[in-house]
Amino acid sequence: MESEVHISQRRDGLPAISCRRVWQPCQSARRHTIAARAIPPCSIYSLAESKVHQAQGNFAAATADLERGVKIAADFADAWHRLAILYRGLGRGEAVTKTKAGIDGTAAPWRVKPYRALLIVDRWSDPASVLVDHERDNFQPVAALLKAWSVPFDVIRLDQQHLDGTYLFSRSGDIRYGVAIWLADAPSYSTQDVASLEQAVQAGTSLLVAESRCLDPALERLLALKFKEAYTATEPLRVAEEHFITRELAALKMDRLDVSWNFNNRIWMEPRGAKVLIDQARHPVLTVNQPEPETSAIWMGVPALGLLRDTVYWRQLFFRSLLWGLGYLVLPNVDYSSRIEIEIDDWGTADKGFLSYWRYLEPSEDVLRRYVIAPLEKRHAVVAANVITGYVDRSGKRIASPWDQKFTDLYGLQQNYGSTERGLKAAVEAGVVEIESHGWTHMQPDLESPPGPWWTADLAGEGSADGWYTEFEDQRRGVESPAIVQLFHMKRSLEYLQEDFGQQALELRPGGSGWSKSQFNHTGRLAAQAGFGLFHAEPDFYYYLDRDLVLDMTGIAPQVGTTSYDRLTDLHPERWPAHPDGPAMLLFHDRDIALQPDFVERLFAALPPTYQTLSVNEYIGTLHVQIDSSAADGWQLRFGSDPHYCAYFERHPSSWRLWLSDSFKERLKALQEVQISVDSGAAHRIKAADFLSGIINIDLPAGLEPHVWKVKAAR
Ligand SMILES: [Zn+2]
Repeated sequence: MESEVHISQRRDGLPAISCRRVWQPCQSARRHTIAARAIPPCSIYSLAESKVHQAQGNFAAATADLERGVKIAADFADAWHRLAILYRGLGRGEAVTKTKAGIDGTAAPWRVKPYRALLIVDRWSDPASVLVDHERDNFQPVAALLKAWSVPFDVIRLDQQHLDGTYLFSRSGDIRYGVAIWLADAPSYSTQDVASLEQAVQAGTSLLVAESRCLDPALERLLALKFKEAYTATEPLRVAEEHFITRELAALKMDRLDVSWNFNNRIWMEPRGAKVLIDQARHPVLTVNQPEPETSAIWMGVPALGLLRDTVYWRQLFFRSLLWGLGYLVLPNVDYSSRIEIEIDDWGTADKGFLSYWRYLEPSEDVLRRYVIAPLEKRHAVVAANVITGYVDRSGKRIASPWDQKFTDLYGLQQNYGSTERGLKAAVEAGVVEIESHGWTHMQPDLESPPGPWWTADLAGEGSADGWYTEFEDQRRGVESPAIVQLFHMKRSLEYLQEDFGQQALELRPGGSGWSKSQFNHTGRLAAQAGFGLFHAEPDFYYYLDRDLVLDMTGIAPQVGTTSYDRLTDLHPERWPAHPDGPAMLLFHDRDIALQPDFVERLFAALPPTYQTLSVNEYIGTLHVQIDSSAADGWQLRFGSDPHYCAYFERHPSSWRLWLSDSFKERLKALQEVQISVDSGAAHRIKAADFLSGIINIDLPAGLEPHVWKVKAAR
């Protein structure tokens, strides 16, 4: 028996698809993502035709197409699932039941949601939609959490974009997002096509709503809730019904949450079919509606989005809701709560040779070997050295290489920067130091104009004035540093770090905590443009950077401060905030090693013994790994490593942790036995129940080529 597919142009411009039985499937049939090897092309085209009809709104024809498709191929899982959705939309309950037998009878349970979230927000302060700012963008906590958890996401901003199917569906008619996270709270969405979201939910996109009254009929239908009015109450929040989302709260002793003295205004939603999982007196606090068997619509009555990031209670609920909505999550397998990222500033700066309040001998190769490399090696620790490669040479009034400087300084110290460079290279060679950027010169780019020239200024007077020693903000003259000036310095830093150490810096920490903040001079935005992957916006936070996004990560990884040899007792790690989603970040200077050689030893002795370092390049690499999920042949997760940002993983393995919802686990369990493989390695055969019984880690080998983890039914 053979089948042949013909596509021609109809008068209305839509493709007409006809099918005659021949053996060779045409090229487009082979390209179809559904396993063309198993499903006859005729059925695949019934599905394609159904999508066209569905897009036209002709649901009867779309249904007939699929009925034809499953008649030819009874094991066509995708067609059965779409058929169930269409029947449900048409109110044909008895037909939905019949599809269940079809769905259960199919060998392929790999209907997984796309691993991508859509954040729907009212507005975004950046007109260019690149920079997320914690002070101006209320959705920052959610964006930062998703980034920390490696969940890919896009943002749709209702102040500039029109929500409709063009964003929610791909060209093939498939949903683009596994979950839509609704964070908007406008009085009305009359100019938006919220009904398109309803269609996406019917097709499999889950909906997760936080801090919103949902003043739209389509949202009300999806959530099975209706806004009533505002209220304030201080009764405890209480788990009203056992559910996957609330299950862990009891273990945390949070199934009743005391909110006395919290007089926030809250949102009173009236349930119209939604299941109330958490309530406060008569008011729902967390609800779930299940418009489709695998698709949920969850409403979270969180009083402020920052609580999702900052409190154990709401973070837990957000995580479990996201997992419930998507079915699975893949997080970095890193216990951030006991990891610390440490940086040492000021290698190569000139000022230590002439500033009365910052004078010391640049540590030599011998000091580095004995007091930096040895203690770090002993602890398998890795720290960042933030290096300056532009030495302000007052005698020549030029920028010179620090590593050529060998002289007796103003205070009689025998400076030998070449020795320092050799020590840093030895530390890189030993694998205990990563070379990063502290800027190029640590100085004002313009050292001539008033109140200069600085070159010849009295070092007891103007020459010592604060403000000359910052590079990316003109603090001496009280203005920002223009974009072109900053970029010149960033690029010189990267160029010379490469020339001097053969290292690609990925992190920028501007000297003197100075950086520019306006739209066009924003140091973080410029750092992203220059190719950095992380920017420390001192003193309180840092930005994740890539080619499209400058994301303020406030609240994720605490900046536990700048320590020093004479202030180590002020460190107080026991007071650091919990940080489950990012490492603590700590800074000190080469000065501390110069003035107290065993400072590194003392610092580690002051840290909690459970703490380990996390290198900044590993952290940047982890945040930049792109995870895709597909179900073409079994279920597979693809980990893409950008060779620039993820260079760390060229020589290091990575590990990820897989979380599954109950229903996802049930579907896997039904397979009895599965085989699991990584890349082209041998498949490991295991009972599905054993595979699902504990924590599921995905360990990937070193190498920048995309890694593929796959699970499929054992045959
Ligand atoms: Zn510095």
